[in-house]
Amino acid sequence: MTILHELFPRLRDSLPRIQLGTAPTPLRPLPGLTDGPAEVWLKDEGAFGDGGWGGNKVRKLEWLIPEAKRRGKSKILTVGGIGTNWGLACTLYGRDHGIETILALVDQPVDDHVREQMERLKESGAEIHFTHTKARTVAEVIWLMARHRPYFLPAGGSNAVGAVAYVEVALELAEQVRASEIEEPSHVVCAVGSGGTAAGLMLGLELAGLSTKVLAVVVNDSLRLDRKALTGLARKCADLLRERGAELPVLNLGDNLIVVEDQLGTGYGHPTEAAKQAHDLAAEKAGLDLDPVYTAKAMAGLLAFDGETPTTGPVVFIDTNGPRQLQ
Ligand SMILES: *Cc1c(COP(=O)(O)O)cnc(C)c1O
Repeated sequence: MTILHELFPRLRDSLPRIQLGTAPTPLRPLPGLTDGPAEVWLKDEGAFGDGGWGGNKVRKLEWLIPEAKRRGKSKILTVGGIGTNWGLACTLYGRDHGIETILALVDQPVDDHVREQMERLKESGAEIHFTHTKARTVAEVIWLMARHRPYFLPAGGSNAVGAVAYVEVALELAEQVRASEIEEPSHVVCAVGSGGTAAGLMLGLELAGLSTKVLAVVVNDSLRLDRKALTGLARKCADLLRERGAELPVLNLGDNLIVVEDQLGTGYGHPTEAAKQAHDLAAEKAGLDLDPVYTAKAMAGLLAFDGETPTTGPVVFIDTNGPRQLQ
């Protein structure tokens, strides 16, 4: 049972969810990680996912796979970079539930991490179209839509239904606060690759009545991911919940959002010195294995923030990276 369905029973049928991992994901303090005053905690979303691949994309698929079925679709078409965590999770979990995945992939900087990911993608059974550029992807998607009539999902699975996953995670965190596992967090910190995670958290924290703010560290420059875009996605998610029968209170979306745009470096997937340092520090002090594209940049954002902004409680780092489950 999801917390969202308990709060809004009318969503049980209109917005179904399948279980793909074990919740709640664990929380633990990371003492000694920073020199700053913040008490940093980890919420380990990488631990989520029972199908050989984990992380935040699996959370989204819990809602997106049933939505595809609700629409009578047996194929999902989606887009991403050639190292896409999203495309791989979609293919593996979709396959387990009778859904084929078609991917149109654009180029991104290639390192060992991306090379390994491409191998996994090739073995996953996805139908892959290497479209290289954004313009060619758009053309290919139009053609593939006509040919296969799939359920189209944007990059990262970040449509309104995908964002619902992180509404649920925020409600889960609120229950962990209520159960005294952690004090009310001052901030949660996450990477922003396509926005669904940050937008869902914003909406969910507000619904839960927490005054926790979202420190959203932008790591992707190929999509519009500014305050307006993230707030817009949170609003679309709220509208979806209302359309499907939830009676939501009046919302002040965006009030709890802080967008950090200075950790991107020269672009999506391009390494930065700050992220390298954050990766090494997190490995040494907390035994974490952050990835260079998302979570190391988010951690760099947290480190820069700590000491610069006063906090009122713990700062929760959302580790969205799942691939370590394969190691
Ligand atoms: C996709 C991804 C993110 C970003 O989440 P969005 O909801 O797309 O913004 C963060 N971390 C990892 C490891 C990811 O794969």
